Amino acid sequence: MTGWLAVAGLGPGDAALVTPEVEAALAQATDIVGYAPYVARVPPRPGLTLHPSDNRVELDRAALALDMAARGARVVIVSSGDPGVFAMASALFETLKTRPGHDPDIRILPGITAMLAAAARLGAPLGHDFCAINLSDNLKPWDLVERRLRLAAQADFAMALYNPRSRARPQQFARALEILRDECGEKRLICFARAVTTPEESLSTLPLSEARPEMADMRTVVILGNSATCRVGRWVYTPRSALP
Ligand code: SAH
Repeated sequence: MTGWLAVAGLGPGDAALVTPEVEAALAQATDIVGYAPYVARVPPRPGLTLHPSDNRVELDRAALALDMAARGARVVIVSSGDPGVFAMASALFETLKTRPGHDPDIRILPGITAMLAAAARLGAPLGHDFCAINLSDNLKPWDLVERRLRLAAQADFAMALYNPRSRARPQQFARALEILRDECGEKRLICFARAVTTPEESLSTLPLSEARPEMADMRTVVILGNSATCRVGRWVYTPRSALP
């Protein structure tokens, strides 16, 4: 039996947003590897072994998946959203780099990332140039987060902010809001999109002056508009043009 390894994005939550390509890989798999809440989104069936793991063990997970595929298993590593956005695809390649000469059958299967699902619910806040920043300092120094926030704000990018706030680092999002107010002014629109496309979904849009750190948690993606982002009715959008 020839093994293979797919790294699949399960999308933001709604089963209707899992791509047919990902569904087909899950249907053919013998083993599913991933962070426990994501593995729990894959329905169990005979012949399928689930390997849930804790957060922050990405490299162990990638090594397990590579070992199983080398032994002939059909392995899917699952991520939420897209596997290439702050997720498992990079961890897999980092692990592969430590195994010179190993060239397994790998496929990266894209998914709908949180910022795009959130933007669609809100309207079109990412309709002009934008960037995505992970606010977690688990894998990079906080100074770098601050520098990127400031420079992105100065370049007038709209921004999608992933991993905005966790119990382990409650102060940092408050600091991020201070920096954004300083660079963008109090009137800039900011959107909090929580648990998008799930039954717990909530959305709110307000000026930066009214944004509070408690409005975000680890299930929230925060979208900051650029200087032209505005509202029409209940929608938020960023014009396609930056011409005066
Ligand atoms: N690979 C994922 C991101 C993993 S980082 C993707 O492409 O979406 C985890 C962060 O993603 C969370 O802290 C949150 O900021 C965001 N996120 C994931 N799913 C979300 C959802 N359904 N609604 C809002 N934010 C979400």
